[in-house]
Amino acid sequence: MERVRKPEWLKISIGANERYTETKRIVESHCLHTICSSGRCPNMGECWGRGTATFMIGGNICTRSCKFCNTQTGRPLPLDPQEPTHVAESVRLMKLSHAVVTSVDRDDLPDLGAAHWAQTIREIRRLNPETTIEVLIPDFQGRRELVEQVIEARSDIISHNMETVRRISPLVRSAARYDTSLEVIRQIAASGITAKSGIMVGLGETPAEVEELMDDLRAAGCQIMTIGQYLQPSHRHYPVSEYITPDQFKRYEETGLAKGFTQVESGPLVRSSYHAEKSLRYLKK
Ligand code: SF4
Ligand code: SF4
Repeated sequence: MERVRKPEWLKISIGANERYTETKRIVESHCLHTICSSGRCPNMGECWGRGTATFMIGGNICTRSCKFCNTQTGRPLPLDPQEPTHVAESVRLMKLSHAVVTSVDRDDLPDLGAAHWAQTIREIRRLNPETTIEVLIPDFQGRRELVEQVIEARSDIISHNMETVRRISPLVRSAARYDTSLEVIRQIAASGITAKSGIMVGLGETPAEVEELMDDLRAAGCQIMTIGQYLQPSHRHYPVSEYITPDQFKRYEETGLAKGFTQVESGPLVRSSYHAEKSLRYLKK
């Protein structure tokens, strides 16, 4: 497929200030991983420069290999039992009012990493009682008892990304299934915790398919949605089909709000964790 040229609105300056350097120092000195750097997120200059980052737990090697994702894939290392405490300490040092955590998929572990997830949430809460916590979790292969373990740790928001519309899902997600993901979201929403989900656009989906996905999410009880441009991490990854215009992103935002989402973040550089702290005002009380 011919490569599509990147438009002006996606050209960003990296810029590094003192806060950026301090964020980097805290992350590295605690031997932590972030999806910001693993995912080559275009917002690193801005987020790290504001002293915020999204921690990635469970190591930095994923057992899955989605075609859009830059995370290393293969056989992961054993879990680091210190990781929950290191994440919690970093949240404290970074003075985060809202902490966002995600993970690689650990399909190699008997509990797929659920206990490690729950412990990380509890450690963040213990060391940072004032901080709100948002977690972006895997599908745990649809095993409800494992999703329940994470729910019971009571973070403020639980997010699970649909990633793309139903038709494209099997083309780019290595193991996750559209309906399994919807079920995970339904379970989160039924627990009373605010449910959030995100997708990438520019993979070849149509606006009608995005609307259908919005309807599915709303029917599952999802309240917050993020929509951002897919950027191909390297030539080995799934190609970009189209750069969605800022106007179309705006239309998606308006459509999502009209469908009943309490918050829709939609824009070329939006990622699941971009400006995540804005969600605080929409939290269920
Ligand atoms: Fe990336 Fe897929 Fe692994 Fe998630 S499950 S970290 S999207 S390879
Ligand atoms: Fe990190 Fe999320 Fe910001 Fe990207 S948008 S730099 S992943 S916190």
